[in-house]
Parts: sequence; C-alpha cells; structure tokens
Amino acid sequence: MAYVVTDGCIRCKYMDCVSVCPVDCFYAGENMLVIHPDECIDCGVCEPECPAEAIVPDTDPRAGEWLALNAEYAATWPNITEKGEPPADADDWKGKAGKLALLDPAPAA
Ligand code: SF4
Ligand code: SF4
Repeated sequence: MAYVVTDGCIRCKYMDCVSVCPVDCFYAGENMLVIHPDECIDCGVCEPECPAEAIVPDTDPRAGEWLALNAEYAATWPNITEKGEPPADADDWKGKAGKLALLDPAPAA
C-alpha cells in the first residue's frame, strides 16, 4: 500500500508534504508532485499536511488512475526533499476539480 498524489496538486504544488515525509519519496514535475509507490512506507503523515487535500491512500476510490500516474512519473521526475516556492497563483487553483488535462509531464526544472 502507498499514498498517492491526485489532481488536487496540479498547479498548487504547495510542497508542505515534502517537509514531513520521513523517507523522501516525493518526485517533482513542473506543476505537481508524485509519490513513489515502492518507496512510500504508508505512514500517512503527509496526507493532513496538504493544503489542497490532494493526497489519499491507494485504497481510496479517489486514487483511481493516479496510482499508475504516480508510479510512472516517479520513475522519471527528480526526487525532491526540500519545500520550494509554490506557484504564485497556487491559491487560484486550490480546490478546482478535473485538473488532469493541465498536468505538465515535464520534470521540474
Ligand atoms: S502539499 Fe499537496 S499540493 Fe502541495 S505539493 Fe504536496 S501534494 Fe501537492
Ligand atoms: S505516507 Fe509517509 S512515506 Fe508515504 S509519501 Fe506520505 S509521508 Fe512519505
């Protein structure tokens, strides 16, 4: 079992989750983060830290297609261990549904 980042993170990317993960298993794309499902130890501490409520356990129906997407991008995006600067317009995107089409597949610069 693992925790999964869902589309709530897209264009929000607050990165509060990164600061609390004990095993540094977050990976960064241009406009969202993902969790490496094989590295996550299922501690759950990141879930309540996310201001966008984007993190769910993989047993949650909201995980859906995001489990596979987290695994796919965690294999190619760079590891992130420290909180960076969120996008300037992050709050404008918080809570918006259906952001999959906005996912930037590019790794974080
Ligand atoms: S705290 Fe939430 S919105 Fe911010 S990067 Fe982590 S998962 Fe994405
Ligand atoms: S559940 Fe724990 S190990 Fe998994 S991503 Fe969140 S903080 Fe990291």
